[in-house]
Amino acid sequence: MKNKLGQIFLTDKKTAEREVKYANIKQDDVVLEIGPGNGILTKLLSKKAKKVIAIELDNNLVNELKKTLSSNVELIHGNALEIDFNKFKGFNKVVANLPFQISSPITFKLLDYDFDLAVLIYQKEFAERMIAKPGNKNYSRLSVNIYYKSICEILEHVPKTNFKPQPKVDSSIVRIIPRYDSPFKVYNEQLFFDITKKFFSHRRKKIKTILKNRYKDYINQISFLENRVEDLTPEQIGKISNELFDINRLINQ
Ligand code: SAM
Repeated sequence: MKNKLGQIFLTDKKTAEREVKYANIKQDDVVLEIGPGNGILTKLLSKKAKKVIAIELDNNLVNELKKTLSSNVELIHGNALEIDFNKFKGFNKVVANLPFQISSPITFKLLDYDFDLAVLIYQKEFAERMIAKPGNKNYSRLSVNIYYKSICEILEHVPKTNFKPQPKVDSSIVRIIPRYDSPFKVYNEQLFFDITKKFFSHRRKKIKTILKNRYKDYINQISFLENRVEDLTPEQIGKISNELFDINRLINQ
């Protein structure tokens, strides 16, 4: 068992069956799975889908899986964070019990690709941060970025007793549907992500306090100055990032 690889295996077959059911797998679906482990999800998926592409980092598990998986599973030995998913033309769904230590980078990597839906198991605390709304204690940079890129929902919580070795915390099954159009327009996405990051490193502070030094001559052109970061909606953060985009252009003229 390799803890640095987040090897916490799902042992409850009923949970695996429900996870696959949530993904509503059809005969022509091509499913990407990150971290098949000992194949509990892979086997269920391969019975329903046209094809499963499963990426596993652990060589020993890859060798074991090779002995048991059906011919419609393409098993890839490698790091899912490093592999270009464009290689797998046409995957349209993602189903996985994710290694928790790469939850954030792998989710944002996936959201750069085009697919219909993902059904993924995360640690419960992470899942709650993904879907949190303004004013909630779990509302974070992750919540804003996930909302901007997708429609995300917790489908059920899974008790820690359904995994081996038993982790310290419960998990959640989450459905993510990527947005084709963002819910609001930002002039510059990178600036929006940077501002969101900067704001949430001071989540209790007012916008004025965070921006007053850098933008002192322009402060009155910025909205929501008296609001605290933790209460701003993603749309409001988008509006501020657009105002800062315009101000930055003025400053750099
Ligand atoms: N799918 C199995 C299950 O539900 O029991 C295993 C899930 S376990 C939480 C995560 C799996 O991801 C492990 O098999 C681990 O070796 C693999 N893994 C960890 N990091 C990975 C990475 N960067 N790329 C691909 N697989 C990885």
